[in-house]
Amino acid sequence: MDQVAKAEPSPSPFDLPKVELHVHLDGAIKPETIIYFGKKREIPLPAYTAEDLLKHISYTEPLTLTQFLEKFALYMPAIAGDREAVRRIAYELVEMKAKEGVICVEVRYSPHLLANCKVHPVPWGQKEGDLTPDEVVNLVNQGLQDGERDFNIKARSILCCMRHMPSWSLEVLELCKKYQNNTVVAMDLAGDELLMAETFPEHRKAYEEAERCGIHRTVHAGEVGSPSVIREAIKVLKAERIGHGYKVLEDQALYRELLDRNIHFETCPLSSSLTGACDPDFTKHPIIQFMNDKANYSLNTDDPLIFNSVIETDYTIAQQFMGFTEEEFKRVNISAAQSSFLPEKEKNELLNKLYKAYEMVPNNPS
Ligand code: ZN
Repeated sequence: MDQVAKAEPSPSPFDLPKVELHVHLDGAIKPETIIYFGKKREIPLPAYTAEDLLKHISYTEPLTLTQFLEKFALYMPAIAGDREAVRRIAYELVEMKAKEGVICVEVRYSPHLLANCKVHPVPWGQKEGDLTPDEVVNLVNQGLQDGERDFNIKARSILCCMRHMPSWSLEVLELCKKYQNNTVVAMDLAGDELLMAETFPEHRKAYEEAERCGIHRTVHAGEVGSPSVIREAIKVLKAERIGHGYKVLEDQALYRELLDRNIHFETCPLSSSLTGACDPDFTKHPIIQFMNDKANYSLNTDDPLIFNSVIETDYTIAQQFMGFTEEEFKRVNISAAQSSFLPEKEKNELLNKLYKAYEMVPNNPS
């Protein structure tokens, strides 16, 4: 028989399996991988050890949107436009998430921002090449599928339209159609929320067509923008989930309506503080209201490379400052699974896995 067990730190209540619905592929790259491709492609980087590179990329005090976007410009030239890099970052994201105890991840990205072909503006100022957005999606799919197989988790993707690039949106729609259910499960709209979709018929057209074709829809809204951005996302773009959505609390009528409709909020605690979206005092965070109202929401990392975080960081913040409990952890992850864009059969398998791991009896056994 074993001797008295060594005093080990008690396991975190958040070691249980998790579901993550809001993480950006280009904000979740290993620093080592950036350095590898920077050297290989002779693209200058601000530093050449993982530790030093992180000092340039990640940060701990709120930045403006422009300063935040400048972080991507530091390392994306090393990755974008390289076939091996694109496939590898997708694979490594799955590996990273599996290590964090995530059993289902939906990762999002703009295919155009990882491409470098001449019909699209070369986004990061690197040399023009021949990698198209279509091929980018194909490569990411391969990386995610290899990751699913090797790490035994579900890894699906969401293709992002960008608010400032309406000319890309119909192409994103075509890619969603072409790769629907081949890893791609939904469409997103990301970028500066001041650029509302009403000004850009292309975004609206892409979303209407997505709905018609059964492509799921989420929209970044109400992170920094007003509740009207959320209203537009729900009513015009027919979003089923809202990326962030904190500002919904400024319009209580809209908030009540979204609660009634069980709309899912993909919240990102650490991100919301570091982007300046929310008060850095987490004890005043909108998530507390979501929690009290038993809203349908999830906790997510958003851009873990830039925030130098793992998903447990976000759960720990919620636990330390928001009164988040193990019971709420389970409820939130069940909500995330129910709101995931997986096909119905796989969603039920995922839910059953969670119920089992959480020692819970399903509310509505079918
Ligand atoms: Zn995001």
